[in-house]
Amino acid sequence: MIENSLVVLNSLSGKKEDFEPLNPGYVGMYVCGPTVYSNVHLGNCRTFISFDVIYRYLRHLGYKVRYVRNITDAGHLENDADSGEDRIAKKARIENIEPMEVVQHYTVDFHQILEKFNTLPPSIEPTATGHIVEQIEFIKKIFDAGFAYEINGSVYFDVLKYNQTHHYGKLSRRKIEELIHNTRSLEGQSEKKNPQDFALWKKAEPQHIMRWPSPWSDGFPGWHLECTAMSTKYLGDSFDIHGGGLDLKFPHHECEIAQAQSVHINPPVKYWLHANMLTLNGKKMSKSTGNNILPMDIFTGNNDKFSKPYSPEVVRFFMLQAHYTSVLDISEEALDASEKGYQKLMDAVNRLTKINPGKKAGAFNHEQWQKKCYAAMNDDFNSPVLIAHLFEAVKFINRVVNKDHPIDESQLEILNKMLSTFIHDILGIAPMQKSSSSKEEILHKTIALLIELRNNARNDKDFKTSDRIRDQLLEFGIQLKDGKEGTHFTLN
Ligand SMILES: [Zn+2]
Repeated sequence: MIENSLVVLNSLSGKKEDFEPLNPGYVGMYVCGPTVYSNVHLGNCRTFISFDVIYRYLRHLGYKVRYVRNITDAGHLENDADSGEDRIAKKARIENIEPMEVVQHYTVDFHQILEKFNTLPPSIEPTATGHIVEQIEFIKKIFDAGFAYEINGSVYFDVLKYNQTHHYGKLSRRKIEELIHNTRSLEGQSEKKNPQDFALWKKAEPQHIMRWPSPWSDGFPGWHLECTAMSTKYLGDSFDIHGGGLDLKFPHHECEIAQAQSVHINPPVKYWLHANMLTLNGKKMSKSTGNNILPMDIFTGNNDKFSKPYSPEVVRFFMLQAHYTSVLDISEEALDASEKGYQKLMDAVNRLTKINPGKKAGAFNHEQWQKKCYAAMNDDFNSPVLIAHLFEAVKFINRVVNKDHPIDESQLEILNKMLSTFIHDILGIAPMQKSSSSKEEILHKTIALLIELRNNARNDKDFKTSDRIRDQLLEFGIQLKDGKEGTHFTLN
């Protein structure tokens, strides 16, 4: 294991704390995954990229990390306050397809986009519908502890009763009195005892197709419950890191704490980490106002927000140029700057491989530089500061290339090793990929060039060369066909 002094900003205390896992050498990390009823949101991608870097860095430090990220495929209602339709069931009803078709389609989309962003898959990716039994068992435990009640086949968590012995609102720093005050206007609309209470199990209306039998009714679990049931199943009653977007802090994460703490003595999570929002052109992203863009539309350039496409590598690099706890604004100007920065970084990495070291060292303290890079990541995964240090190395490399500075073997070795480690392994920034369409383009251009060379050879009566081109291409599965309008080819 690498010696480290990692500190993380714990949302629970609001302070930076030394990172000491519950079991030395092992880390349990749970991150709330997507509700798969629509294409993955760019803001969500920022959250998952942030936790991908955290996962990568913890592994780099030598921890054995179990990373659990769920798929919400049932139970997430339109309105977080237990009202409205199930988001997936609604989409299925509108499009007249099975709910599992909705789930399958958007789960595939989610995985494809995250793969383009070069994120590593989690160790376990459990689904809510795959853990109905565990959720029912957890509700029974909350009943036994005295914090659940049933009304008309639905089960609710009694927040006021819980708050008598615990603190509901400790993560989001809310007081129960304020919550009561803020929700008073909703009273009388719901069957709940108090508007602050939240659903653990909802009885399904006759038209609701996503339903499971339970001791209380045929119905479905509450959204908050799945994360508690699945995190405790795979990581234990207490685990190290719980992550998610800042918008999930309240009520989702607050409810998760209440559910777990109502049946277990110890707090469920040691470090709560929250990734901040992504805005677009200075405004909150929202489907209803149209200030919204899908990741795929950025990659293809098929959108009305930016005048050109940006690759997933550039977008990822752009996101990591801000600390995960700060608000980040995406705009054409910012993406252009990141594209230039990314290119500069990649050019330097490529140039480095072609440099031959000399006997004399250049004016670059490579050991100090390496320490600074680690110090940045140890300071709550501060990727923008790390990137600034990487550019110090870029400056030195460019001077070496321009023969302004010498470089010795040990400098070259550290730079080669650490740049690759920090850029590729920790920040997860891949080298520029040729998209499949441009690969095809290159193939077509190459064959066209060979056809031209063959025709020139034939005109010069150099049949040895022209036959060789034709036969060799055929061996590669490319057949040339001569016709009245010139030579065409087919790929076998
Ligand atoms: Zn969750």
